[in-house]
Amino acid sequence: NDRLRLQITITRYGNSERLLVVRDVTRVHQLEQMRKDFVANVSHELRTPLTVIAGYLETLLDNPEQINPRLLRALQQMNQQTDRMQHLINDLLLLAKLEASNRPTDNQPIAVAPLLQSITSDARALSGSHAHRISLDADAALWLKGSEAELRSAFSNLVFNAVKYTPGGGDIHIRWWSNEAGAHLSVEDSGLGIEPKHLPRLTERFYRVDSSRASNTGGTGLGLAIVKHVLLRHQGRLDINSSPGKGSTFTCHFPTSQIAQR
Ligand code: ADP
Repeated sequence: NDRLRLQITITRYGNSERLLVVRDVTRVHQLEQMRKDFVANVSHELRTPLTVIAGYLETLLDNPEQINPRLLRALQQMNQQTDRMQHLINDLLLLAKLEASNRPTDNQPIAVAPLLQSITSDARALSGSHAHRISLDADAALWLKGSEAELRSAFSNLVFNAVKYTPGGGDIHIRWWSNEAGAHLSVEDSGLGIEPKHLPRLTERFYRVDSSRASNTGGTGLGLAIVKHVLLRHQGRLDINSSPGKGSTFTCHFPTSQIAQR
């Protein structure tokens, strides 16, 4: 981290002239690193007190019949918000870990189809009485190299978003396939869709299309940032196609070199 960092830009003028600009970006990098360390440290420090609060709330809520109804409602709200904060802190810590390097923690062969089956059944549970029609079409022989834990969190973010941003009864289709370009996972929904102007910023941390809409869904605003970093570490990239009012398709593309040969 003590290394000097230079950013070099070469601009061509006409046939023979070139303009070479060298910028010293060492300080910018140091500040960025300080920001990342600060976020990771604060998240880590908040974890312990929150665990204690969550523990006490759980104990209190163990015997709801002994608590007067007004107090019970307040405790349930506190429990829900504590849960949300714990999610946020876990996501911040995960993101800090993902940002620290460009390599996945593991390079194991991963059976993607069973992983998607498990995420699909979690998504059905999340949908519950909203009764989304969720279908999965996965090539069982297509394995990927990398970290199963990281891919699980990326893929489940995409699938759970499809549930969160699709009105009840809507369709969600998950597909895992390969062609000469590599392996691909798509999550297609018939939900709210996203206006084109939001697309370039969607994977930024805390960026939300409509914060009132998103806060109802209990998300942290970090899901797509996590997806982006996990894909980066697996040589992959994310493609987003969406039409407002009709639905969205999020597709992860992995190069052939990332497919596990068994
Ligand atoms: P959040 O926790 O808010 O869901 P994400 O980073 O996962 O955070 O997503 C960022 C924003 O992108 C969301 O707040 C939502 O506005 C939009 N979004 C994500 N997935 C979808 C989807 N499938 N359909 C419509 N909007 C979506």
